[in-house]
This record gives sequence, C-alpha cells and structure tokens, in this order.
Amino acid sequence: RQEQFRALRDVEPVTKDGKRIRLQMNAGLLVDLPQLAESGAEGIGLFRTELQFMIASTMPKMEEQEAFYRNVMKQAAGKPVTFRTLDIGGDKVVPYFRAAEEENPALGWRAIRLSLDRPGLLRTQLRAMLRASAGEELKLMLPMVTEVSELRQVRGLLQKEIQRQSKSGEQLPRKLQFGAMLEVPALLWQLDELMSEVDFVSVGSNDLFQFTMAVDRGNARVSDRFDVLGRPFLRMLRDIVRAGDRSGTSVTLCGEMASKPLPAMALLGIGFRSVSMSPTAVGPVKAMLLALDADKLGEMLNVALDDTKSQQPVRELLTAFAAEH
Ligand code: PEP
Ligand code: MG
Repeated sequence: RQEQFRALRDVEPVTKDGKRIRLQMNAGLLVDLPQLAESGAEGIGLFRTELQFMIASTMPKMEEQEAFYRNVMKQAAGKPVTFRTLDIGGDKVVPYFRAAEEENPALGWRAIRLSLDRPGLLRTQLRAMLRASAGEELKLMLPMVTEVSELRQVRGLLQKEIQRQSKSGEQLPRKLQFGAMLEVPALLWQLDELMSEVDFVSVGSNDLFQFTMAVDRGNARVSDRFDVLGRPFLRMLRDIVRAGDRSGTSVTLCGEMASKPLPAMALLGIGFRSVSMSPTAVGPVKAMLLALDADKLGEMLNVALDDTKSQQPVRELLTAFAAEH
C-alpha cells in the first residue's frame, strides 16, 4: 500500500466531482522536512514552533530561532510553511520555563495567553520569523485564541517589529499572511469579526473537541467517550466553514481528525477544501478523495446533520457511504 500511495504523490488532489483540495502536512522539527517531498503535501499547514523549545535545555535565542526558521523554509524548497507562534503550557511542557502548578493546565496560562503576558518572548519570536522570511512570504498563526482582541494585540506587536526591521534597513517579507487557530469554542460567537481580522483560520480540532465536549484530550478514560463524527461537533465545524464562505476567508483544519480517511472524508463533505495532517496520512487521504463525490456526500451529510429526530450515528452513515462508493 505504501507503494500505491507513493504513486499518487504527484497526482493533483481533485475529487471525482472536480473539487480541488489543498493537502498540507504538519511538522515541528527539521527531521520532518524530507516528508514534504516524500508525501507530496503542498506545504506545511502547521509548523509547531514549540518543538524547538521543548527539546532545548535553555530558551533558544533569537538568532537560533531565526536560523531554525530559515532552515525550515530552505528545506521546504518554495512550498509554503505556516509557522505557529509558541504553544507552550497545557500538555506542552518546556522544562526551563517553569510556571506555577496549575489545577487545569489545559485551561490555564498557555499559548497566546502566555505570549501576550511575556511580550518580550513573543516579540523575539516574531522578529526571528520576520528576519527568516526576508524577501519571502511569511505565514504566521496564533494558537488558542479566545477573543478577537488578542489578535489585535499581537498585530500591534508585529507592527512594531516590522517598523523596527524596516528602520534598520533590513529586508522585510514580501508578503505576510496573518492567521488564527480556532480551538476555543468562544470564537464561534465571534466568527464574523474573526474572519474580517485575519487572512486565514485554521481549526485545531484536537483542542476544539476537547473544549467543546469537555473531555481531556490526554485522558484515555474519557478521550474516546464522544465521537468527532457526532452531530454536535460536525455541526460546529460546518458553521465555521459557512462563516469562511460568507466572508471569503480561507478555512483549513490541522487537527488529528484530518489524518484519518473517514473523518477527513466527513470534513470534505461539510465543505472543507483545505486540510493539514500528519505526513503519513497524505497518501491515504488523497486516495480517498480521488474517489469521492464531495457534493453527493455533502447532500447526505447535511440531511443527517439537520435531522433532529434521528438516533443513527453519523459515523455509521459515513461508513456506509464510504463502502458504497
Ligand atoms: C489542535 O489542537 O488540533 C492542534 C492542531 O494543535 P495541537 O495539537 O498542537 O494542540
Ligand atoms: Mg491545539
């Protein structure tokens, strides 16, 4: 089967009914980079920058961060890379950055919250990203956004770094794309503001599911209790896609959900046209979509999701659809 997937590497990801799907991969270390060519992914839809911090014994300096990002972009060889700013805290522990013990670390001082409270840390990272992408396109996104105002604050800091760089005569990125991860349910009631504030939105379905269903993603006792293919979560994702369509903002999804063919199929059915997944999933997901009639699945799924009387699990309907087609 590996051979079979390899043969698909250069095949354009277009569904049977002609929908062009953007397939990207997730990464976080240099060792992941060869997989970009290997898998045939179009780019890196999520680069987890905290990995460099997690494997270091001291805080990486600006120059080290810059060199690392530069190297990542060089090895990506022209394919786009979406850098996510530090997502530490919660399940991502950085040993030399000791914060007070928290009773609920997933709901605690993490990701963009920590970055905004330690603006020096964030500005250093933004500077490293801006410098590493001199003359190139910089795509950057922020983790765990809860309120749109947080994005405005980061934009303010970014603007300062851009001015600083330009004053000192350094070359700026040729283009900048500013995006937010959608991982906190509160953002669903700010969708229109959110979409008008950013160039793209990337759904972090791992955290979004955790917070929506109130199940700890790392606790095996409860993590499988509810289904990502259940009605509540799929309806939620469909609302996000619809808001993206309304505003013309590109919406992608980079959680584990995109890495499994059946959930990935469901995502295409509810209207996603861009997903980012673990590198080994690109082949299987491409094989799935080449055989998929996305509109037909969409019709079936919309009926199933709007049905408030049905007891039948959507997963069963999806499995039956996959088997039939
Ligand atoms: C997510 O939450 O879905 C996500 C992609 O981010 P991470 O898994 O790094 O928290
Ligand atoms: Mg996350």
